[in-house]
Amino acid sequence: QAKKIKNSYSFFTEEMRSLNAFRADVEHELRGAIESCELWMAYQPQINADETLYGVEALVRWQNEKLGFVPPDKFIYVAEESGLMKELGEFIIQTSLREIGELQKELNLSFSLSINISVVQLMEADFLPNLLKIIAKENFDRSSLTLEITESLSIESLDDVLPILYDIQEHDIQISLDDFGTGYSSLSILRELPIDELKIDKSFIDKILYDESEKILVESIINIGKNFHMKTLAEGVECIEQVNELKRSKCDIFQGYYYSKPLSKEDLKKFLRKG
Ligand code: C2E
Ligand code: CA
Ligand code: CA
Ligand code: CA
Repeated sequence: QAKKIKNSYSFFTEEMRSLNAFRADVEHELRGAIESCELWMAYQPQINADETLYGVEALVRWQNEKLGFVPPDKFIYVAEESGLMKELGEFIIQTSLREIGELQKELNLSFSLSINISVVQLMEADFLPNLLKIIAKENFDRSSLTLEITESLSIESLDDVLPILYDIQEHDIQISLDDFGTGYSSLSILRELPIDELKIDKSFIDKILYDESEKILVESIINIGKNFHMKTLAEGVECIEQVNELKRSKCDIFQGYYYSKPLSKEDLKKFLRKG
């Protein structure tokens, strides 16, 4: 018995050590990643209830020689903790605005662009001035830009974030509350924050077809969104049955593998041409 405990303990420390090593590798490799062009943006279509295009969400991608493909979940927080988020964030904003701006002009189409912004980014002293600078440089239509802010922004940080969000809204830029329902924040956040869109997390959408209470929960979120004059967007829809159910509940916008995986700029162009 004692042996077993000892083994599971050493397994645990082993795992901890490799986790720390991985984190150190990520930090080290990330430092050169932007300059060596290892990062690019993928774009996932967002579809209106009438099946027309609403917009795209920009999602960062990283392929590294040593580490292989590293998903954003595994390196965004490292960037934040090691002071690399400012540079990375600017790359993300710059690249998305340029590529989508070019595509809109080329295809003579106008649609929304959503960019994920972490609270760490939002709190950088010159976040909004820098964003406005890039918007001006790329000549991007501000009103078709949405910033996705994750709901996990805690009540403690609310006081700091609130004036920034109002500033952003003053400039005609839209705000979407990402991963809605997964955090611990209270519903009063909906009254305090200037939110244009509620993004319902995939973890809820996953269960609506076989869990009645989950379906009711999602319906309630959609109704709350409606009552607060916010758009509602369902993330991670993978089949038509989910889409139909969500349409019955009057959800506005849909995003997920059922319509498309995140696409490279070239593949997005093909997707948009098909209409
Ligand atoms: P998120 O914002 O909640 O993004 C949704 C994630 O679900 C994306 O994973 C997307 O590829 C995936 N997804 C979309 N539809 C489906 C579906 O139908 N089925 C399944 N199984 N998955 C689907 P991804 O790209 O790995 O991003 C993970 C998280 O990383 C994002 O969660 C976001 O929090 C963060 N992230 C990604 N790109 C950026 C970025 O440019 N900046 C910041 N700050 N965070 C980012
Ligand atoms: Ca998002
Ligand atoms: Ca999510
Ligand atoms: Ca997220």
